[in-house]
Amino acid sequence: MSAASASAPRIGMFGGSFDPPHLAHVALAQAAVAQLQLDALHIVPTGQAWYKERALSAAEHRLAMAELAFGGLERVQVDARELQRPGPSFTIDTLEALQAENPGGRLYLIIGKDQFAALKTWRRWQDLVQIAIICIADRADSTRAEAQFDPKIPLPHALVPLQLPLMPVSATDIRRQVTSGVATQQGLARLVPEPVARYIERHRLYISP
Ligand code: ATP
Repeated sequence: MSAASASAPRIGMFGGSFDPPHLAHVALAQAAVAQLQLDALHIVPTGQAWYKERALSAAEHRLAMAELAFGGLERVQVDARELQRPGPSFTIDTLEALQAENPGGRLYLIIGKDQFAALKTWRRWQDLVQIAIICIADRADSTRAEAQFDPKIPLPHALVPLQLPLMPVSATDIRRQVTSGVATQQGLARLVPEPVARYIERHRLYISP
């Protein structure tokens, strides 16, 4: 066991559509492991995102890209459970499963500020804030972070800000750049990990909107 897990194991969850995973996601995962001294960080690609209107890319592609982006990071594991679960993916279900698998462990939910602002729309968010410590990364795109979270109930755990430089990158922009033909492979490799850029090109992802 690592020094970080001398007492309760610290287990992180970082969910997203990861369509595609980009460099801000990777930086966020690394910052979370280091700053929260996590024993394990589960990267959880969402199955069906109940909150996103567009159809996501096939699960096999998002899983493969997540493996390429995060697979080499220490204490980080790509966790395919939401892709295997039928129906919409709800974070509370995954957190409860992680809690059951790690009795006595401390759970940390890693989210960007845009997601945090919408937390009250999440299924059973009141239970979610009881079982997980919410860790928030600021986002450069201010329109995504307009709303403020006002729980109107006392939170059992203080919110934890994650320290990392603002990175103005989003999967939406990356898909748009590929669709419009603006992104060259070298250009793409400045936004996503290089193996992900090669995967996008090889599988001709995001060619059509
Ligand atoms: P899309 O543009 O398709 O909505 P995205 O870039 O927001 O995608 P997601 O997979 O939806 O990526 O995000 C997963 C998590 O990563 C969310 O909690 C989101 O807030 C966070 N995140 C994404 N991009 C950034 C960024 N540039 N800085 C900080 N957090 C981010």
